[in-house]
Amino acid sequence: MTGEELAAIRHRAGLRQVDLAQRAGIGRHAVSYWENRPRVDLRAWAVRRMAEVLDLPKPPTRSAHPSWQEEADRLAEAAFVAQVARIKARAEAAAAKRRVPCGAKTRKGAPCRCLSEPGKRRCKFHGGMSTGARTPEGIERIREAQRKRWARWKAERATPNA
Ligand SMILES: [Zn+2]
Repeated sequence: MTGEELAAIRHRAGLRQVDLAQRAGIGRHAVSYWENRPRVDLRAWAVRRMAEVLDLPKPPTRSAHPSWQEEADRLAEAAFVAQVARIKARAEAAAAKRRVPCGAKTRKGAPCRCLSEPGKRRCKFHGGMSTGARTPEGIERIREAQRKRWARWKAERATPNA
């Protein structure tokens, strides 16, 4: 597990560094120290405390036999990684389905009360489906379609009885 992953798990648990530190009974600097490490040592005391608070699988303990230790480390690390992946997948699935109040400013000036499209921040009327073309080709395609639409409208207006 990397420090970045540890930080991500803490974020998903809705905890600030101070909150996690307090619950784990460790210093806040221990939290930031490990979150900034490329590799988190699962046997470190502070890490074990955090793992407990964050509901992660138990990290390995020191085994008397060195060869068992290696195996235990490998299994624990694998369980850890799997659990992290599960937490990540669950959070992503929830985010993809989440609907929040749109809140876009309407013509009356009040925030839109519609629910957003799943996983988006805006409703279907305010860009939840799409916020439009981004590539130059796409933008040009829209422009061309609008030109044609207005040309048709003008032509119809010029000859109302046609
Ligand atoms: Zn809206």
